[in-house]
Amino acid sequence: MFFECHGHIFMDGKDYKQSAARHKNEVDENAVRAALLAVKEAGIGYFRDGGDALGVSFFARELAPEYDIDYVTPGFAIHKKGHYGSIVGHSFSSFSEYRELLARAELKRADFVKIMFSGILDFNRFGCLEGGPLEPSLIKELVAAAHGEGFAVMAHCNGAAQIRAALEAGTDSIEHGYYMDDDCLSMLSSSGSVWVPTLAAAAGFVGRDGYCVDTARRILASQQEAVRKAVLMGCLIATGSDAGAFGVPHKNGVLLELRYLRESEDERYVRALEESLSRGNSAIRNNFRHKYD
Ligand SMILES: [Zn+2]
Repeated sequence: MFFECHGHIFMDGKDYKQSAARHKNEVDENAVRAALLAVKEAGIGYFRDGGDALGVSFFARELAPEYDIDYVTPGFAIHKKGHYGSIVGHSFSSFSEYRELLARAELKRADFVKIMFSGILDFNRFGCLEGGPLEPSLIKELVAAAHGEGFAVMAHCNGAAQIRAALEAGTDSIEHGYYMDDDCLSMLSSSGSVWVPTLAAAAGFVGRDGYCVDTARRILASQQEAVRKAVLMGCLIATGSDAGAFGVPHKNGVLLELRYLRESEDERYVRALEESLSRGNSAIRNNFRHKYD
């Protein structure tokens, strides 16, 4: 059985705007069923959604047992107003608004919370991010409050400084985690947090119209290099492809992810990888589930 530890059931792997438009007035059940069927046919038995702003993943969670999928979701992702994240969730501008979002997640019986701690990659400029980062002190408060309500935290987080702040705050999983440096890797290895590097999502930009092929390749290669180091240091890694995002269809997202993870001549790495993935995937499955009475 495969684990999709980071997917978006509401997106179709082709066009975000069309995907959002499809569910705008009410959730399009046919589209959700088609995505769930693709997931099932891919042999995926566990699916952790990364959120959406339209209630699609909450709806998908109700249907998922029909497809033998253990499906968990935060419902919506949470971002600070003016920062990256509106495409997959809701925003807060004050701490009390953040608390309201936590309460809303609880009311909807969200399985965990997803928070955006950084912007997204600029695929035309290596090392650069689009969208401002959150301050480390705020990251700490956000994670503490979520943990206080019994939620594990899935964090969208790129850039070494942000990743360091997220790990220091006790974030349970680092999503994407591009531009992780050695310092982050050693923190990760002693933290118990799981890293979901979403290599397939970066690979989707290699050769995409309007993007520099060399830069996208370099970003993918640097992420693979960091993953190799992480695995050899004993870090927990999970398979998550960002399925639904551009170039990552639900039907083969995890297979693509595994292909990029396994791409290495180093046998010691390849062997250690399987152990790291098995522990990482289990940790995600065990920890990202709020216990409601
Ligand atoms: Zn995502």
